[in-house]
Amino acid sequence: MPRKSASEVYPGQRKKEKQQLWRRTGPAPFERAAKRKFLELFGFKCFKCGTPERPAPLMNAHPILCIDHHVPMALGGHLVPGNLVALCRRCNEIKLDRAPETFYNAEDLGRLQPLLNCQTEFFKSVHFDFDRWLADPEGYLVWAGYSPQEAKRMLYDENHPDWYYVGRSDSKVPSLTITIDLGGQVNSVKRED
Ligand SMILES: [Zn+2]
Repeated sequence: MPRKSASEVYPGQRKKEKQQLWRRTGPAPFERAAKRKFLELFGFKCFKCGTPERPAPLMNAHPILCIDHHVPMALGGHLVPGNLVALCRRCNEIKLDRAPETFYNAEDLGRLQPLLNCQTEFFKSVHFDFDRWLADPEGYLVWAGYSPQEAKRMLYDENHPDWYYVGRSDSKVPSLTITIDLGGQVNSVKRED
């Protein structure tokens, strides 16, 4: 009988951990930039076999490399800083739920350790800073890795696919939804301050 992958065994948990891991990096374009910076830690190639990521603009997704568990979920690992490895999809499929020691050799594991150790600091460095964002949206997008021209389009061109995440006026205003009960009539008011 073929082995089941962790995604088949723990679909909900896996998705939740993925969201929790990347949500801290901010709106979609910042999340994408953070993922790219993470892959750069691994030289933009598969840690196991060295297959490089396809050169692609930051706008595009990463079709070859994925970021997955070092210690698999099946063995109690979580998708958290310190347990993440960039692998190509093929190696990731081969690794599945195996313990790291049965997939990597000793040399691999020695080389991998510093890349695991730096991840807590890495995620601090890409944690979304709302104050910085409010102070200078364009500068912050450029810091994240976008060109000044791209950043301008994201912020001001409604046809840009990222405008929805960073360009709308309410994407730059911390907002709070208050529900007021007016004698049985419930109104939701968005307060902006
Ligand atoms: Zn590989």
